[in-house]
Amino acid sequence: MSVFNNNFLSGKISLVTGSSRGIGREIALNLAKHGSYVFINYFKADKSAMDLKHEINQFGGNCQLLKFDVSDSNDVKASVENISKEFKKIDILVNNAGIARAALALRFKEEDFDEVMKVNVKGHFNCIKYCLPLLLRSDSPSIVNLSSVLGITGDLGNSVYSTSKSAILGLTKSIALEYASKGLRANCIAPGFIKTDMTALVSEEVSKIVLSKIPLKFQGEPIEIANCVLFLVSDAAKYITGQTISVDGGMVMK
Ligand code: NAD
Repeated sequence: MSVFNNNFLSGKISLVTGSSRGIGREIALNLAKHGSYVFINYFKADKSAMDLKHEINQFGGNCQLLKFDVSDSNDVKASVENISKEFKKIDILVNNAGIARAALALRFKEEDFDEVMKVNVKGHFNCIKYCLPLLLRSDSPSIVNLSSVLGITGDLGNSVYSTSKSAILGLTKSIALEYASKGLRANCIAPGFIKTDMTALVSEEVSKIVLSKIPLKFQGEPIEIANCVLFLVSDAAKYITGQTISVDGGMVMK
């Protein structure tokens, strides 16, 4: 059961990037369950995006699919223009889309470096930049960026992913400072080890090592992150901006 009133986001317009699966899917679902109209961004032709729309419509929620590549600024700009034809504002932007590539620095391919930075850093920036005019028309605009515990701690074999996720901490603080006077809040969530397709690629051996570093001793589910998003976009967090919340079972302390 949710601690939030079911319809507290009624009248709010949300955009969640990369939300056809994993953490983004759960965030979009949770926002819709609490009354928000949700734009479900997906990237490649994807049946799971249709399935999510169907699931939201089944409980009477409202949403729309929006296909674009966060790393392509023209694509983002055109998609946000489409939103603006129908709605005069965006209240909530959740920058969730992200990719991971793991290899030791010595073996890391330049094209993979560029790809990770393009999606994880430029992707967040593109969506912020092009959504800002619509966000600033909301009476309580809020941005939530997805970083990672690895953006705080660093990680063996993940130097590039960690770098991209560290960048999100600086981006969040800078945007929070730039637009606080307009009432916009920007915060960041640093998930730990969450059960999704991304972490399904991690070998059993590495999973065991990661689990041993989680003080709460279990792997998180996407809902853990989705509930934190709900808190950050709610009035309960109206005095919180520029912050990073670790949702990781205590992993960041190890
Ligand atoms: P996932 O791989 O299951 O989902 C990522 C989503 O991003 C997918 O829907 C994918 O289609 C989308 N995406 C990728 N490139 C895109 C692009 N160019 N444009 C639009 N969408 C694109 O991953 P997840 O585990 O759900 O992770 C979600 C976010 O949380 C990511 O930013 C990830 O880095 C972060 N994160 C995840 C974990 C974890 O344990 N799963 C931990 C820390 C941080």
